[in-house]
Amino acid sequence: MATTDGVANGMTEPCDECGIETLHEVSVQLVTEAADGENARYSREPYRVRECQRCGNRDSQRMNNV
Ligand SMILES: [Zn+2]
Repeated sequence: MATTDGVANGMTEPCDECGIETLHEVSVQLVTEAADGENARYSREPYRVRECQRCGNRDSQRMNNV
């Protein structure tokens, strides 16, 4: 899925699958998370999603877990 609203963000980053630095498309998505427990709280957390333009591998990393 390569829909971009305007800005395509190309970055060269190491890819786990390729084992080398490749061009990645980087975007930020809000992911709805369900918290564990009885009073299920849902929160939307920003994730940094990157997709390798060589092999198509995607991974996401939560941005505010510091
Ligand atoms: Zn790759």
